[in-house]
Amino acid sequence: MRTPIVAGNWKMYKTIAEASEFAAQVKEANPTDAVEKVICAPFTALPALATLLKGTSYALGAQNMHFADQGAYTGEISPLMLKELGVAYVIIGHSERRQYFNETDATVQQKVKAALQHGLKPIICVGETLEEREQGKTQEVVRVQTEAALHDVPADQLKNVVFAYEPVWAIGTGKSSTAEDANETIRYIRSVIAARFGQEAADAVRIQYGGSVKPDNIASFMAQPDIDGALVGGASLTADGYLQLVAGAAGK
Ligand code: PGA
Repeated sequence: MRTPIVAGNWKMYKTIAEASEFAAQVKEANPTDAVEKVICAPFTALPALATLLKGTSYALGAQNMHFADQGAYTGEISPLMLKELGVAYVIIGHSERRQYFNETDATVQQKVKAALQHGLKPIICVGETLEEREQGKTQEVVRVQTEAALHDVPADQLKNVVFAYEPVWAIGTGKSSTAEDANETIRYIRSVIAARFGQEAADAVRIQYGGSVKPDNIASFMAQPDIDGALVGGASLTADGYLQLVAGAAGK
């Protein structure tokens, strides 16, 4: 049994004040424990959220990190710094970081390794661009990204890894993949994991779908056998939207 996991990816949205207001609102609600709930906030909002959400069922996530413990890397944040805040998850290799910030399969590999070494659970993003999809390269692209990300993952750590399949053309565009299409690619990603770690271990890995997931379509994704949750940008920005997403994922 894979516990569904809904993660809000706030991207570069929310000041500390706005994040605190969100926390106050979701704290009042009493959403199901059948879904693991993660909030991936900007670095600046993490300390306030850590205080406000302490002792609740909401886990905190970061959206990126450097792979080194410390060093002369101006502007970067290390795994140790995230751990100190009580952060549990970290998004690695989001397509916006691959596209705008020179994230590569090689840095993803190093970051996943470092995250696990520090007890942080990586949410590894993989997905094809529209051009790659139109060229029939979806499987090849996600296979290469998945294999690279898992390169240094020891078998006993695989259970701490979450994947998010996010077709780049579906992110923030309002164009989501069909649930069937998403499931097919996610099943393929699971087969890539199985080729390395065996079917039983791969069957235990949670793989989310991401890309224009909304309260009114999340249930259709969750109804698919291989989809274990969602990584959600825009629709996770209001407390109400976030709670509706969690409720929508609970039907699994
Ligand atoms: P979106 O973003 O839900 O706004 O499409 C998803 C993501 O980038 O993780």
